[in-house]
Order: sequence, then C-alpha cells, then structure tokens
Amino acid sequence: MISLKEAKSIVKKRISILGGERVDIEHVEGMTLKENIIATFPSPRFDNSAMDGFAVRAIDIEKATYENPIKLKVQGISSAGVPSDIVIGPGECIQCMTGSEIPRGADSIIMVENTSGFSDNDFVKFMTPVNKGAHIRKKGEEISKGDLLIKKGTRVTANELGTIATFGYGELYVSRRPRVSVFATGNELIEPGNSLGKGQIYNSNLYVFNDLIRKAGAKIEMNELVKDDKNSLKLFLLKALKNSDVIISSGGISMGRYDYVRDVLIDLGVEEHFWKVAQKPGKPLFFGTKEKKIIFGLPGNPVSSFIGFMEWVWPVLRDIIGEKPRETIYGILKEPFPREKKKHRFLFGEVIYRNNRLVCSSSSRIGSHMLTSALGANCILESSPGVTPLNPGDLIKVNLLPWKTIK
Ligand code: AMP
Ligand code: MG
Repeated sequence: MISLKEAKSIVKKRISILGGERVDIEHVEGMTLKENIIATFPSPRFDNSAMDGFAVRAIDIEKATYENPIKLKVQGISSAGVPSDIVIGPGECIQCMTGSEIPRGADSIIMVENTSGFSDNDFVKFMTPVNKGAHIRKKGEEISKGDLLIKKGTRVTANELGTIATFGYGELYVSRRPRVSVFATGNELIEPGNSLGKGQIYNSNLYVFNDLIRKAGAKIEMNELVKDDKNSLKLFLLKALKNSDVIISSGGISMGRYDYVRDVLIDLGVEEHFWKVAQKPGKPLFFGTKEKKIIFGLPGNPVSSFIGFMEWVWPVLRDIIGEKPRETIYGILKEPFPREKKKHRFLFGEVIYRNNRLVCSSSSRIGSHMLTSALGANCILESSPGVTPLNPGDLIKVNLLPWKTIK
C-alpha cells in the first residue's frame, strides 16, 4: 500500500498529453483549447452607433430646445451592415441605426426620441443638444488588435463561444476528446429495468461512470457489463486496449477469489504502477499503463467507485487534454469528520455559503456501499490521515463536484 501523495505523483509521471485537432466552431463546446485566442482586429472594429438616431455635428444643435428646435438636412441613412459614404458638413445629418458605421464628418449620435423622428422628409428637427461623442462606440474601446482573449487550456463554454465567434474563428485547435472504455464486472450485476434473482443487485456504477466520462469531456468508446470470468475480461480488454486512451473498470480488483481484473491486465502486458492506496474508501485501486494507454481499476463498492473516479480518473481526463487544475478550496466543518490513522478519508458532503464562509458537513452515511450518500452532495470532503477526528470549526479540503454549485 502506498500513500495518496506518492500515488498521485506516480500518476502524474505516467500520463501524457493527448494530441490536438481542428474542430468547427459548431462542435467545439466542451472541448479544451490548445491555442491562445487572439483578437484578430480591434473591437469594436469601427466607430459605430449605440442608438437608433441621427449622426450630427454636436455644434450644429447646441442651442436646440423643445420650444426652438433646430432643423438639419437629412443626407441619407447609415444602417447596420450598410454604411453611408456621405461626408456630412455644417447643417447636415444622417439617419444612423444601432451598429451602423458613423459617417465621416459627424461627431455624435442623438437618439431618435429627441428629434421629430425618422421619415423620408428632407429635414429633421432636433429638440435637445447632444454631448460631443455621445452614443458612439469607439473603435478598439473594448479590445485592441492582438490582445490575448482566451488562454489555451481553457474549456470552451457559452462564455468563450461568444468571444470566439465575435472574432470570427470558424475553426479552433483543441485537444481531441479522450477515448474511454469502461466496464463493470460482477456475476451478481443486472441492468436496471430487469427483475432481480436471488443474490443479484443492479449495476449502478456504469451509469455513474458514463455520466462522469461525458461530463469530463471524454468520449465513450466501449461500455459493458462483463462476467467475473477471465476469458470475458480478456476479450473486452483486448479490444479496449486497441481503441481507447483510457480504460476504467469497476469491481473485481480486490482480494476476492473471482477478482480477475488485475491478473488479466498484467497477462495482457499492462504495467502495474500501484494497486493499493492508503485511502478510504477505495483502497484497492489499480493504476497501470500500456504504451500511452492509461488503465484504472476501481473497486466495485459504489461509493468507492464514484469517489475513486472523481479523485483519480477525473483529474487525469482533464490533465491529458491540457486543462489547468482548479484551485483547492477549504471549508469549515460544521460537524466532526472521521479520520483514519493511516489513510486519507473521503466522504460525500455538502458545502454551503453562510456569513461569508464556506461551511461543510459530510454525509452521515459513511459506508462505501451507501450510494445514497451522493444524493444532495455537492462535494467530496477530504482529510489527510490523523489519530483524532476533525472537530467542528476545523478546516477541511473541499473537492467541489464540478457540475454542482454552492448555495
Ligand atoms: P468487488 O469490488 O467486485 O469486490 O465489489 C464490491 C461490492 O460492490 C460488492 O458488494 C458488489 O456487489 C458491488 N458492486 C460491484 N460492481 C457493482 C456495480 N457495477 N454496481 C453496483 N454495485 C457493484
Ligand atoms: Mg465482484
């Protein structure tokens, strides 16, 4: 058995970053950038109107009032996408719609509400003056050409997509999605929706894994229930080793008589880097590689599987696509947290925001078979080994489940 720290450093040394591909902007959501996104032009790209109104020279209407409006000659229209090339002079104006280029000669936009309105007449009346420069969105006021907009290693979401589209990127260089094959082994396992026989239970782990794999931005290549039988395991793994970057298993990796996963992996040439880690739950944790392929064998107990995935597999799936790790956060315990003398302890928990502090409590269901402990959880709480439990008021590491929020 090795320490969690040692195991983490072994994993870090053994994994390698996946290659990239060019992906159309339509399909890039959820993928991780392998290039910096740079402003290819200033933004706004040209001086344009922030309002529907008239482009004027402020000086021409500085005396305008409702009682004594000032008339200017309308020289044309500049609308979004259809600029006008007329240059306005003294006593002239141009109808100017939101987003349209500011005609040369004009220095301000006055809102249509402060005029006699849009029409096809030759003249328009202005009822108020306008501050010079009003309602003009200036070229480059937001972004200069060449600015770094988004750093490589960022995952593309709606936040980034808008900016990416604004600057005209039709294709992006992103990490390819990791191809993941996953299986659960256990002769007792039955798929939900079927009836159970004596001693049988439903397979829950694969449903958890499938969702987690997708949420981590990876692609599921194979996904099967496999019997506790060397041949079946071998058949699955032979194929999976060919078409996957990462293989994840649940069950069959501990000391049981029918726990064959480790033997079969080693038979197939997988190099074992560790098999037992000082942690609870999930001590039997196999980590191996074959060429650049990464293999994790997680124990079948549902909480060990889920937490093991989040603590070991998830970070690897993010690391190999070049995503930056998240900041570690700590919260204050509301209730005591059990510790283990020699092992790291993980429990599902809930972290909330109260009086400017993160306050957390762990699930009261602490067995590694008690998967309902994940219901209502938004984090996994983690303590290092220690002789006494942590007390209320102590700080504890909070591993926020990335798809959950803090209330
Ligand atoms: P194992 O790691 O194969 O010794 O399994 C440990 C415990 O987890 C046993 O009680 C299994 O029945 C249970 N288990 C194994 N695989 C699954 C699964 N896919 N879904 C739910 N429970 C499982
Ligand atoms: Mg089993």
